[in-house]
Order: sequence, then structure tokens, then C-alpha cells
Amino acid sequence: MKEIVCPNCGATFDAREPKCPYCEYINPLGAEAKYLRDLEDTRLNLDNVDEEAEDAYIKDIKSGAKFALKRIIVIVLLIAIFVGGGFVIHKIKEGKKGNFSDELLWEQENFPIFDEMLDDGKYQELMELLLKYGDEHNIWNWERYDEFEKIASELWGTPEEQEETGEDQEETGEDGE
Ligand SMILES: [Zn+2]
Repeated sequence: MKEIVCPNCGATFDAREPKCPYCEYINPLGAEAKYLRDLEDTRLNLDNVDEEAEDAYIKDIKSGAKFALKRIIVIVLLIAIFVGGGFVIHKIKEGKKGNFSDELLWEQENFPIFDEMLDDGKYQELMELLLKYGDEHNIWNWERYDEFEKIASELWGTPEEQEETGEDQEETGEDGE
């Protein structure tokens, strides 16, 4: 430890002190040294602050990435559910309708029967058959479907009229009881 003699009061003190501890006389060399030490301390503190900030930033990025990844997984799952569900529904519908060649065979078998019934005037039976097959087969592919529809609407009215008549009948039935 280097000591100096105070030019003001003659006491000796550490050369690194910025002031004489006895008379507070300014020691220029010590003051400069202290200034440099303080500067260095500040710089080290700033370094620490930078490191802490950097750590926090990296954590943010990591958690942000995790969050983004979770969101992507959720979105992919949702898409998979929608697409998968749509595919299953499509398959069920397809299965219900049967495949194309089976449907063609059914038409070749049944449309001539419909023709015969139409020609024979068996409208009630034909109507019942069409209602029975309507859910499973493309009955409107029958080339005389329109022709029969006209006859049916003349006989029993349009579907709307039929519904109204049906409701009226139900109401009358309830009133009767
Ligand atoms: Zn002094």
C-alpha cells in the first residue's frame, strides 16, 4: 500500500484515497483512481444487467416457441379431426348409397318394374316402392320419374298439400277421440 503525505496537514494516508481523511484535502491522483474504479464497477454491473436481460430474453423466446408449438399442434389436431370426420361421413354416405356398379345393377333390375307398374296404373304400389327405395337409391335416375311425379301430384296433390292434409286428418282424429 502506497502512502502519501497530505500537503495541507502533513498526515499520511493511502495514496488511493480521493481525499485526506483528516482535513479532506483533495488528492487528485487518488480521486482519479477512485473515478476509474467506480467506472469499472459500473461497467461490471452493466455487464451483469446485460446477462440477466439476455437470460430473460432467451427464456421469453423459448416459452414463446413452446407456446407457438402448442398452438400448431392444436391446429393440426383440429384439422385432422375435421378432415378425418369429413372423410368418415363421406365413407358412411358412400356406403349407404352403395357403390356405383351396385347402384347401376339395382337400376337395371328395378326401373323396368317401375315402368311396368306405371303402364299398369298401379300408382299406389309404385308410390310405396319409391318411398321405400328413396333413401338408399337414386330413384330420380328413373327416366319416367317426372312423368310419375305429375300423375302422383294429380292423384294426391303436391308434397306440401299432402302434408297439410295429413295434419288436418291428425287434428280431426284427435278431436274425434
Ligand atoms: Zn490532510
